[in-house]
Amino acid sequence: MQYKGNLRKMSVKESTPIQYALNLSNETIDLNQCIGQSIKLEFTGVINCIDCGKKTSKSFSQGFCYNCFRNSPMAEPSIINPELSRAQWGEARDLKWAIEHDLIPHYVYLALSSEVKVGVTRHHQVPTRWIDQGATAAAILCETPNRHIAGVIEIVLKNHYTDKTSWMKMLKNDIGSISQLEAELKKAGTYLPKELQRYLVSKHEIRSLEYPVDTYPEKVKSITFDKTPKVEGTLMGIKGQYLIFEHGVFNIRRHSGYQVTLTLA
Ligand SMILES: [Zn+2]
Repeated sequence: MQYKGNLRKMSVKESTPIQYALNLSNETIDLNQCIGQSIKLEFTGVINCIDCGKKTSKSFSQGFCYNCFRNSPMAEPSIINPELSRAQWGEARDLKWAIEHDLIPHYVYLALSSEVKVGVTRHHQVPTRWIDQGATAAAILCETPNRHIAGVIEIVLKNHYTDKTSWMKMLKNDIGSISQLEAELKKAGTYLPKELQRYLVSKHEIRSLEYPVDTYPEKVKSITFDKTPKVEGTLMGIKGQYLIFEHGVFNIRRHSGYQVTLTLA
């Protein structure tokens, strides 16, 4: 079977293990059933912006053309740095978009994706956000009424935790223990100044996530279309937004907007 279309991040469904699907040209392809099988992904050479759809010779910030990277609300700096959100003061690239996306409940969470990390997400992105990062377990620490406050809390906690996933460790399944996460959930609130402690949730519910991986790689080598336009091999598993092959790992999200053909055995 062959499919053609522009890559978007894989859609995920919480289940044991997590279910992954790729949407290409109106077809939904179940990727879990491809594990253990040979698959081929070929880049056609065309990249279409994930916002406006126009052809772009280069992808900026995981799938935007330069114009959208500079102007789209989906590429606003507060996406990466939530504390920069100014929607609560009526300022944004697109205020209507910001009201819908920034002025809604947000969570500050601790996750175990390699070490214990801190992060921010919109309330409706749980557990999708955690799955996209390849977290093995995560729990909500604070609930805030908007993105800005969640970002301010994250800044304080960044003095104690990383906000990045070590993707190599995550893909080798070299991760901390649940008891570490439990211990940090108890401690984290004490790092916050009084005026931010009011956003702490009263109970920490740890959610565990299991990924469809047959074998974790010992060495992790990143494969990109910018170096190799064809990726072919036996799919050993899927974690985060990565396809794990015997010879390397391929980050689907990084290639958002890239037009590909997918051939299944
Ligand atoms: Zn664009």
